[in-house]
Amino acid sequence: MAELLLATNNKGKIREYRELLSGCGFELVTPAGRGIDIAIAETGETFGENAAIKARAFAAASGLPALADDSGLEVDALDGAPGVLSARYAGEGASDTERNALLLENLRHVPLPRRTARFRCVIAIAEPSGGIHLTDGVIEGLISLAPRGTSGFGYDPIFYLPERHLTIAELEPAEKNRISHRAAAAVKACLILCRLSAENNKER
Ligand code: IMP
Repeated sequence: MAELLLATNNKGKIREYRELLSGCGFELVTPAGRGIDIAIAETGETFGENAAIKARAFAAASGLPALADDSGLEVDALDGAPGVLSARYAGEGASDTERNALLLENLRHVPLPRRTARFRCVIAIAEPSGGIHLTDGVIEGLISLAPRGTSGFGYDPIFYLPERHLTIAELEPAEKNRISHRAAAAVKACLILCRLSAENNKER
């Protein structure tokens, strides 16, 4: 089976993609598994630009097709922040717990109904030949008043789904993978990968 490099070292994302892309015709490999260690400045102004920057850099470094995900949280009461800066919201090197605490602090005067937010995910698939494909996905919810749950990663403990009365961190991993922003983007990415895999097999 042809290999696809997952252009991330985020363990939460790797776990989810192993499940989400399991039927897509590629064996997933990671930068750590391949000894690839490159630092990439995420200088784009949109999730799509950053995903493309990461995917292209990893495809060039490995000679393999690479799949990168740029994702984050948009909070309406904060004019869309943290957005593309989601990973750096509490400064470089801060933990998920510190980022969540800062966000809750910045929303302390905002009542629950006005804490509308969404997770957005853009996936970029870069082919070593230079081709690039983008897909996206969104999940809508509210920022909770306090963290709850231990599943998932990142902002999951403070992302509340009012229709389920649960945060994403209180969902089973399989359930998050059915409804998340990443799942929505991955369904579309999977179709692109199936096509690339078929083309690959024809060329052999
Ligand atoms: P990046 O895409 O690697 O730049 O990371 C974006 C930021 O959003 C990181 O702080 C992630 O932890 C967070 N993030 C991305 N996807 C999710 C998710 O599915 N749940 C919770 N947090 C997420």
